[in-house]
Amino acid sequence: MSKETFTFQTEVSRLLDIVAGSLYSNREIFLRELISNASDACDKLRHMALTSPSLIEGDQDFKISLAIDEKAKTITVSDNGIGMNHDDLLATLGTIASSGTGAFIEQLGKDDKKNMGLIGQFGVGFYSAFMVSDKVEVTTRKAGEKESWLWVSDGKGEYTIESAERSERGTQVVLHLKKDAKEFLDASRVTHVVKTYSDHIGFPVTLTDSEGGKTLNEASAIWTRPVKDVTAEQYKEFYHHSAHAFDDPWITMHNRIEGVVSYTNLLFIPSMRPFDLFDPERKGHVKLYVNRVFITEQAEGLLPPYLRFLRGVVDSEDLSLNISREMLQTDPKLAKIRNGLVKKVLAELAKKAEKAPEDYAQFWENFGVVLKEGLVDDFTMRDKLLALARFHSTKAEELTSLSAYVERMKEGQEAIYYITGEDASQIATSPHLEGFKAKGVEVLMLTDPVDEFWMQHITQFEDKPFKSVTRGSADLDGVKSDDSADADADKKAEDAPALDTLIAAFKLELGASVKDIRPSKRLTESPVCLVADEGDIDVNMERLLRRHGQ
Ligand code: ADP
Ligand code: MG
Repeated sequence: MSKETFTFQTEVSRLLDIVAGSLYSNREIFLRELISNASDACDKLRHMALTSPSLIEGDQDFKISLAIDEKAKTITVSDNGIGMNHDDLLATLGTIASSGTGAFIEQLGKDDKKNMGLIGQFGVGFYSAFMVSDKVEVTTRKAGEKESWLWVSDGKGEYTIESAERSERGTQVVLHLKKDAKEFLDASRVTHVVKTYSDHIGFPVTLTDSEGGKTLNEASAIWTRPVKDVTAEQYKEFYHHSAHAFDDPWITMHNRIEGVVSYTNLLFIPSMRPFDLFDPERKGHVKLYVNRVFITEQAEGLLPPYLRFLRGVVDSEDLSLNISREMLQTDPKLAKIRNGLVKKVLAELAKKAEKAPEDYAQFWENFGVVLKEGLVDDFTMRDKLLALARFHSTKAEELTSLSAYVERMKEGQEAIYYITGEDASQIATSPHLEGFKAKGVEVLMLTDPVDEFWMQHITQFEDKPFKSVTRGSADLDGVKSDDSADADADKKAEDAPALDTLIAAFKLELGASVKDIRPSKRLTESPVCLVADEGDIDVNMERLLRRHGQ
């Protein structure tokens, strides 16, 4: 096929304009991005070769090679991974598939200095090559295919694709360095960059220059190393790379479990909410490896959806390599791993909740709403999850646990009272709370939609029933009042004889739209409020269901 010329998609052109003109001071991250792509390409092929071994073509030593050519003023990144064919090149190097990119370009436009380092997180890391190059040449052959291709661009709106001669499978990216980027012809500079950003890569990264060749990294996946040999910095870099995250991990859990099923986990709890946390599919993002071979990032059954904020990897030599995703889901060995991981994570959270309550409160603000889904999904962990749960309440300034609430319960108080609604400030002024305030009884304020659901499944905590203050008779009779004036008010409410006539008049007016009208002690200032009957759907739940068209 003769040479074809294409124009970049508009977004790519915009991105390239910014990237090429960038004054970003950490331009070296282009190496991280290209090495990361090379590593992904090796991972992909190794995974595909599980089912199609012929793709390996007799060359199973995956590797990433860097080469510096001082005369030609180029630096080259090569891999023997999956490679790309003509269609792959068109679909990936010229178009932007990922959706978050628009926002990234927007941000970059405002302040490129700060944000360029995030380029990899937005699925456009390849284009960082144009920070340091005025021409990029990609020669590639896809594993299992005969034809190879050359993709060339100067990053100024167009690129070309033509047939090429490449016998090895995989991809070679040649960067023609800009005048002001000659520092990357210096082997020691490149070595330093690779050690800083790419040490965790599980394939050997070698560097060749006029002086000879050497291997730059440990080439052992970071989670296979002993904990004492990994620095906090390395964990962080791995988290950034593998989770496409830019915050720092809040908790890092690196464990080796030996047992009926042996596995290693390197899990992270982010310190910030990942953007897809509320994706309706509730997908997990922990990568599953079998004996260092990447299997899938969406291993259903590896972790429950209520722990989907976790990032990192789980690697087990005891799962079968050739197992299909469907079979994996029901593999009892995977269930064993899941149990172990869930217990480990919840125990780690309990430890933090006790030792660092302020940090834990921040975690809860980020992920509590997701963790609470477990109260409905996983009854085996219910007690542990209830103990981890934190709530806003009418009494405590900070978030409170249920056991702290129970400790504060008033003499004669039988139940844990709660109110649900959309936001705490709105709930706080609810007439339903008046009687509770007057008696000094604490009420938990639940503001997440999920609260309505788990409250239907869980009736009590430490033998104390949960009671909604907007439902039924939410009875405060047994509770001692803080002062006797309130007690008097109670008496008056019961005795008022004129109330019967008033109620009769209301009933006549409202007819079937209400079930009943009763005198109540829950109000001290407002004249009336709506309540749901004991067995009925709660008021806020009704509102929620209505909004979702049910
Ligand atoms: P991301 O890696 O997040 O997908 P990039 O901009 O870094 O985004 O790369 C875009 C795509 O180009 C990759 O998803 C991959 O399909 C393809 N690609 C880039 N480099 C290579 C490579 N060395 N081998 C095979 N495919 C590659
Ligand atoms: Mg990439």
